[in-house]
Amino acid sequence: MARFKKKGNSATNFTATPSRLIAHVDMDAFYAAVEAMDQPELAGLPLVVGGLGPRSVVSAASYEARAFGVRSAMPMGQALRLCPTAAVRPVRMARYRQVSGQVMDALAAFSPLVEQISVDEAFIDLSGCRRLWGPPRQAGLAIKAAVSRACGLSCSVGLAPARFLAKIASERDKPDGLTVVEDLEGFLRTIQLREVSGVGKKAQERLAALGLKRLVDLRPLRPELLERLFGSGGARMARLAWGDDPTPIEPRRPVKSLSHELTLDRDTADRELLAALLLDLGHKVARRLRDKGLAGQSLTLKLKTSDMAIVTRSTALGAPTNDGGRIVATARGLLAAYQGRGPFRLIGVGLGRLAPAGAGQGELFDAGRQKALARAEDEVRRRFGERAIQRAAQTPSLDHDEKLVHNDE
Ligand SMILES: [Mg+2]
Repeated sequence: MARFKKKGNSATNFTATPSRLIAHVDMDAFYAAVEAMDQPELAGLPLVVGGLGPRSVVSAASYEARAFGVRSAMPMGQALRLCPTAAVRPVRMARYRQVSGQVMDALAAFSPLVEQISVDEAFIDLSGCRRLWGPPRQAGLAIKAAVSRACGLSCSVGLAPARFLAKIASERDKPDGLTVVEDLEGFLRTIQLREVSGVGKKAQERLAALGLKRLVDLRPLRPELLERLFGSGGARMARLAWGDDPTPIEPRRPVKSLSHELTLDRDTADRELLAALLLDLGHKVARRLRDKGLAGQSLTLKLKTSDMAIVTRSTALGAPTNDGGRIVATARGLLAAYQGRGPFRLIGVGLGRLAPAGAGQGELFDAGRQKALARAEDEVRRRFGERAIQRAAQTPSLDHDEKLVHNDE
């Protein structure tokens, strides 16, 4: 696992970099904790966050409710049979995002390498920051104190020399826990396969049928066998069994899709006008992708008809892109292929399956793209008059979070 950095020109002059130190920070029963903070009368009570409809499920449960067996993703009806006295509160995602922002801002002080995994969970790569934060336990306490100062809530922290170990460690002591993996081999021996994220239910069952339940039980198996059984996930398991997880911490927040849309001042069935508006929308999406250093691999055209029906058409883009011209052309192609007549009251373009943009992609040509964006706006105005853009209301962009997979444990 040791990684070596070449220093100077001499091939013999290698210096071992300090071993990795990864922190995993997981807020405790996050949605429920925010509700109890905002409504102090709920503190200490069994509390379930979620809807009350016939198909509603539990989004989060306070530890007091968990004591009754209530769990995330359980049907609400079942939760209330287990714990009839539980208070139920609706999900207030905007509020959770606000608190999440406070948490992530606090974590950013610890390292430039913070990777947010969900609204209440992040990895921090502290490898290069040891002198700043001291020994792992001290760093973990500092993180917990900073989170508490930032938002008033508790979190659980795991510290370990590898990413997957830090995540398992943070789950070992909840709520308000701190687990530092000092004895790597000893810790590895305690890990059950079901604790390892990325080892699915099916894989667990197949391995359990062979009597393999612990991570270290995989060691005697040849990596090629695991790979044959479980594909690339199997090859990963073989490495994890020895504590080897080279997955880097990537400093980004999980933006899953990004879109711009426009509600028209007057409904229109004019295909030319719609195509012209796509020029503007497509370049705006492209610019925001480049601002965030992202590129998208799928594109969605969204239309809303006068009677409020929403139509979407999506296509894969092959190579990820944040190129305005390509986005506009693809969106226009989807519009041209769509047979519905409208009239339409809203048009939008979204890019999905986002990934970090390739090095150098974007910035270099940004000045040119700004010009293209200005040209796009000019073209719409020239052809369709000021009103086409100016009097159209910009709806708030649908920015990602709805699509975040949240696991509130
Ligand atoms: Mg959590």
